[in-house]
Amino acid sequence: MSAHPFNPHVATLPVYIPGRPIEEVARELGLDPTGVIKLASNENPLGPSPRALAAMDRTLKSLHLYPDGSAFQLKRALAQRLGVDSSNLILGNGSNEIIEFLGHAFLRPGDEVVVSEYCFAVYPIVAALFGTRLVTVPAQRFGADIPGMLRAITPATRMLFLANPNNPTGTLATREEIAALLAGVPRHVVLVLDEAYVEFLEDPADGLALIRAGTHPNVIVMRTFSKIFGLAGLRLGYGVAQPELIAGLERIRQPFNINSLAQAGALAALEDADHLEATRVNNRKGLDDLQSAFAKMGLEYIPSFANFVMVRVGDGARVFVELQRRGVITRPTAGYALPEWLRITVGLPAENHRCLEALREILGR
Ligand SMILES: *Cc1c(COP(=O)(O)O)cnc(C)c1O
Repeated sequence: MSAHPFNPHVATLPVYIPGRPIEEVARELGLDPTGVIKLASNENPLGPSPRALAAMDRTLKSLHLYPDGSAFQLKRALAQRLGVDSSNLILGNGSNEIIEFLGHAFLRPGDEVVVSEYCFAVYPIVAALFGTRLVTVPAQRFGADIPGMLRAITPATRMLFLANPNNPTGTLATREEIAALLAGVPRHVVLVLDEAYVEFLEDPADGLALIRAGTHPNVIVMRTFSKIFGLAGLRLGYGVAQPELIAGLERIRQPFNINSLAQAGALAALEDADHLEATRVNNRKGLDDLQSAFAKMGLEYIPSFANFVMVRVGDGARVFVELQRRGVITRPTAGYALPEWLRITVGLPAENHRCLEALREILGR
């Protein structure tokens, strides 16, 4: 690295380690890829909506044309569904891109960014990318300590991230805690509420009410098509905020960041309520099955509100490798300072069963 004049912070940037792709694991271990299952990245085990697939198929023959840079149709449909205006929406190449827009828009070297212990790995990376100081507030029983996060705010704080439910822990802050957060965050701090898993909740609070009310110019709610919508490979996420904040982020966005297939696929996926409901049903049952099996095996787990669950297996790195050898890809969490745990995504019933059988064999339970 020293041969090139990189910016000084580049060498020390934390690196995001994604869930391992099926093909890569199969190649490495000499396994048949069709026999490998991936429960590592909180993807939808039912796959994409068939309606999304059909819509993208119809779009293929127009791929010589640039996409609509304003994503007019998709934004209009999304706004309608969310009960907001198109001017409240920004689309990103995954919600990860929106996190980066926020960095460009608001973060400068020396600023402070407040997160919770066990927060989503992308927040510390973006904080470091923009030379800010990360202030990590210790978690309480794996969940965010919201009063503690509010106390961590100083005049130098520019941004506070909270994922709810949180990844990787699957914990959920209560409505009261979120209300306290909204009431307590000062205007000089941008509050990023990351709702990547909100659609999995049985009884979700209406996180967009405050956007409709126009009361919180410094709050942005983020969601994604990567999780319940089953379109992680398309890369599409969105942010919902006051038009002024959105207009600032729009200036940063590259003109064609949302490709034509993503626009068509997401538009159709939005209409497919059956697919969403089937995904919710599969998830509820699968989460119950996994958690009750862990309890029977005497394994500690963190009760989850999302489509994955953290389980304490002892030597997480070893169990990860052993599972992988049996064709089951999970997510090790040593990078989150949880080396005794694994994060397992809820799969189809047969996939959950296979993962549990492998775990029983490895752990001798
Ligand atoms: C998966 C996830 C996202 C979504 O990422 P995309 O870039 O939209 O695929 C955002 N936040 C959290 C907490 C997540 O777990």
